[in-house]
Amino acid sequence: MSNALVTEKKLSNFINGEWVSAQQDHFAPVVNPANGEKLIDVPLSSQEDVNQAVKAAKKAQKEWALVPAPQRAEVLYRVGYIMKERKEHLSQILTMENGKVIEEARGEVQEGIDMAFYMAGEGRRLFGHTTPAELKDKFAMSQRAPVGVVGIITPWNFPIAIATWKSFPAIVAGNAVIWKPATETPMMAYEMAKIFVEAGLPNGVVNVVFGSGSEVGDAMVEHSDIRVISFTGSNETGRTIAGKCGQLLKKVSLEMGGKNAVIVMDDANLDLAVQGIIWSAYGTSGQRCTACSRVIVHESVKEQLEERLLAEIDHLTIGDGLDEQNKVGPIINEAGLRKIEKYVQIGQEEGARLLAGGNALNEGDLNKGYYFAPTLFTDVKPDMRIAKEEIFGPVLSIIPVKDLDEAIEVNNDVAFGLSSSIFTQDINKVFKAQRDLDTGIVYVNAGTTGAEIHLPFGGTKGTGNGHRDSGQAALDVFTEWKAVYVDFSGKLQRAQIDVE
Ligand code: NAP
Repeated sequence: MSNALVTEKKLSNFINGEWVSAQQDHFAPVVNPANGEKLIDVPLSSQEDVNQAVKAAKKAQKEWALVPAPQRAEVLYRVGYIMKERKEHLSQILTMENGKVIEEARGEVQEGIDMAFYMAGEGRRLFGHTTPAELKDKFAMSQRAPVGVVGIITPWNFPIAIATWKSFPAIVAGNAVIWKPATETPMMAYEMAKIFVEAGLPNGVVNVVFGSGSEVGDAMVEHSDIRVISFTGSNETGRTIAGKCGQLLKKVSLEMGGKNAVIVMDDANLDLAVQGIIWSAYGTSGQRCTACSRVIVHESVKEQLEERLLAEIDHLTIGDGLDEQNKVGPIINEAGLRKIEKYVQIGQEEGARLLAGGNALNEGDLNKGYYFAPTLFTDVKPDMRIAKEEIFGPVLSIIPVKDLDEAIEVNNDVAFGLSSSIFTQDINKVFKAQRDLDTGIVYVNAGTTGAEIHLPFGGTKGTGNGHRDSGQAALDVFTEWKAVYVDFSGKLQRAQIDVE
């Protein structure tokens, strides 16, 4: 036991409201990336555990779907209040298992709280439509129906927020959930399961099965009684899941990678732009799907921008996220660190000019964790690999351009379409950019991160498959539209035929 906050030695699955040992006695250590200390062991479950969870979920869902939505929502309100009371506790554990600095962990937990209250409000909306019928004495409406048992598969970089974006709309809409969190960050799922129990969620409505993607995740994807898979993670995994779901004709929502850019025009407030860039490039050590990894800058302000960015990078304090002084925490693990190193090498080989960082950090206590220096490349060409591929680390590339048209073209010429931003004082440029930037999220005079939970979250092209997390749009993933016609004419009226 490395910290008083972690009171267990081993986690168990959460199935049908109970803590259940996995069928096989295999575990993986969960390690604090800030200092390499083991926090807890997480079970590596198998297909049998998934089957057990689905059986419980299927039974629970039948009852849950019949509970009036405003009453289902009451449970979510209680979940939100408990999360609020426990915000600091959850934030500290989140920092320990994921590494992000405590201020950001608090922000992430707050996102989950906001989502609880927002989706609880849906209990009294879940709007469908009424519409005139084309025949006399006939009534027509559409309504949302739960899908059944849904599977959610979440990544390590937002271990609580993403799970709430998915599970809360699923719950309020009357589904039952099987949740597989990332093996690196299982503790938020453990904490949330405890909160669901305390909030009075009936047994079996949410089940947590820990284990690897290749075993537990795959078993969920393949299970015929799981009707929807909502996945957030890498493109590679998303593609595999989508292929299998396609074969099974299973609904699948994918939220995947990004190659997000900030555009800085010649009339931009440069001080503001620098703040936005630093926050979105180096926050969470660049391990956000919305992290800024490209700055597309008007050539006339490039040098000024570089100087100001370098000055700010100098002030970034790096270390254990539990220390409030630190602004940049560790990388999730050794493999993540090596991948970033590899991209720095690729950038140098491609001819980009390294202005700052470029190396792992090992001095003093940093030696125990996985740290990488905030890195800045300039004179990057749009077709270089560092300008095209997701690095998932604190590596930023400056790409000079001549005008707004070229900036938009460079922004759009990548395989992803999650988030983009423009700094300008010119209203005409603002409106042109928000229309033409091919991303699911556009910010004006702010960095590429900072989504609010009541708006749709997701992206175009390789970032997703047309669905959205968060906001009202999330309900579309977890509901089926049902059209209902009520004929009160007392005779058979045939649509399209008996219309006078
Ligand atoms: P990942 O390797 O794809 O893993 C994501 C989740 O999928 C984990 O729970 C993983 O399990 C599971 N998984 C792995 N292989 C699987 C398989 N064959 N079948 C079913 N599940 C499987 O992604 P990551 O490295 O954890 O996350 C980083 C990526 O997520 C980045 O690309 C980032 O941009 C993206 N992301 C996107 C958004 C968005 O909303 N667009 C938000 C956050 C992150 P295990 O790891 O436990 O094996």
